[in-house]
Amino acid sequence: MAREPQAESIVVVGAGVMGRGIAHGFATAGRDVALVDVQPAALTAASDAIREILADGVRLGKITAADAQAASARISTSTDLQASVRDRPVELVLETASENLAAKIAIARGVDALLPAHAVIATNTSALSVTEIACATGRADRVVGMHFFNPVHKMKLLEIVRGLATSEETVARARAWGAALGKTSIVVNEAPGLTTSRMSALMGNEAMYMLMEGIASAEDIDTALRLGFNHPMGPLELGDLTGWDTRLAVLSYLHSTLGEKFRPCPLIHKLVKAGRLGRKVGKGVYEYVDGKRVPGSGLGSR
Ligand code: NAD
Repeated sequence: MAREPQAESIVVVGAGVMGRGIAHGFATAGRDVALVDVQPAALTAASDAIREILADGVRLGKITAADAQAASARISTSTDLQASVRDRPVELVLETASENLAAKIAIARGVDALLPAHAVIATNTSALSVTEIACATGRADRVVGMHFFNPVHKMKLLEIVRGLATSEETVARARAWGAALGKTSIVVNEAPGLTTSRMSALMGNEAMYMLMEGIASAEDIDTALRLGFNHPMGPLELGDLTGWDTRLAVLSYLHSTLGEKFRPCPLIHKLVKAGRLGRKVGKGVYEYVDGKRVPGSGLGSR
């Protein structure tokens, strides 16, 4: 029997920096979204952030007030993943929880038995193994990596990751979801760090070593990459945006799989221990007030 794709929902698991952006994207594209997180506070913060992105869109003339309101109304939030999957027809579960393999495997395994046969489980992991996550389910051919970029509503790339068993049909469906969100897709075969995280983690780690060794200030390291190589953002600014906890998790995984050149810089460990996780908590390498960077707040060498 023919399916009615528009009647099916998207379940986004993890309402952090990425989950809220992905939920906003699908809702704006006309899809019903269930946004799930273990922390009620994360859901509240996500709803506030989504409202803000939509309000900015209205101010900038990118979306009408009526469409923004309709998009907002398409998103429901919950702390109960099982109920969110069981209580509605679901086409896609997009997991974007913290970068932790055990957690991602538990989520995939937990939803697998509840989903209809055609549904896809996607992971937004920046570096971990899609194949390992897929093998925890009974639908390895319908598990795929969909790696979005931060901030999701501005960044144009979707890196689709093909695990060992991912079918071409699943890759094609991931491409179609990306296109519905206005993204350009690339397809990569699974490898630690994919293409983007592998390059960006190495550069960010090297920038942290330079900061730790007192070679230059944070501002000057970032200015070097922005003005010397036309990068829109320096590697330390980017680490603040990504979150140093996420960055540390990615580097630790790359270190364990690809070797010594990815050993996380001790200064990253120090930032994470100090709770300086980046923009999401108001301080990382730089400090932020009301989302704006405080001039001159960059760390010197420590
Ligand atoms: P985040 O720390 O902002 O948010 C993660 C959220 O997941 C938190 O709200 C946490 O409560 C929730 N969570 C943890 N375990 C959960 C579970 N079992 N069920 C439901 N929710 C759970 O992290 P983020 O930056 O949004 O990153 C999420 C994923 O996206 C990671 O895999 C990360 O590597 C990837 N990613 C991040 C970026 C980035 O720039 N931050 C870019 C691309 C991909």
